[in-house]
Amino acid sequence: MAENKKKTYQSASGEKGSKNDVQQAYKKATPTGSAGGFRVGAVALWLAAIAFEILAILVFKGVVNLKFMPQIAQLIVFLVLDLICVIVGSQLWKRANHIDPVSKKNKTKFWLWNNMGVIVAAFAFIPFIIIALLDKKADKKTKTIATIAAAVALAIGVLTSIDYNPISQEEKAAAVEEIEGDVFWTPFGHVYHAYDDCQALNHTDSLTYGTVQEAIDHSRTRMCSFCAKRMEKEQGIDLTNIKTDGKAVDEADIPDAVPEAE
Ligand SMILES: [Zn+2]
Repeated sequence: MAENKKKTYQSASGEKGSKNDVQQAYKKATPTGSAGGFRVGAVALWLAAIAFEILAILVFKGVVNLKFMPQIAQLIVFLVLDLICVIVGSQLWKRANHIDPVSKKNKTKFWLWNNMGVIVAAFAFIPFIIIALLDKKADKKTKTIATIAAAVALAIGVLTSIDYNPISQEEKAAAVEEIEGDVFWTPFGHVYHAYDDCQALNHTDSLTYGTVQEAIDHSRTRMCSFCAKRMEKEQGIDLTNIKTDGKAVDEADIPDAVPEAE
């Protein structure tokens, strides 16, 4: 049944990108860039972040002074630029880790690669905070504002750099091997679905479809639990090695498998 459904869907909507019997708009996944390109971009932005931190330190110490702005405004500008570079760099890095995941066998590298953004965020603000706090000559008000601004930036930088959905090379390989045909995901969702009529998609009117590899490349690294249970039930596929969102699923919520037409 699932196979039939997919075939109908592809022929009805594959080219047009819309499906008639469901009021949902479909869009094909855009091609994925190369992991190498994303990594180079990430590293370049992170280096820029550290450069902006150094500038902020130099402004704080009075070595650099842009004159046309008050010192505190200069500090804020450089810290904000630092933060922007950290955030964008980390998003590129996470994307690269999803396109080209690290093997779980090398635990150190796996940890390092998946936490690199957080480490960089720490390096991009903590030295500034330490230097500001240890400075005895600095104006008290400037020191307080600068430290608070850097601490807030550090928190935002760390929270946005964490990869909440990491995936290993092995998990991605298992998903690509086991799951054939298209999967579906929503613009802001974190999971991919094997069925476009999944109950979790009831309130969604815009879906992107593509192979499971494309879904993971687009940072939907885990499969929806409802779809996983249904796939196991309908197709007898062993999904033990495939990452799901880990939600508890009530068997009763899974639609019964429809007998094959033949
Ligand atoms: Zn689902």
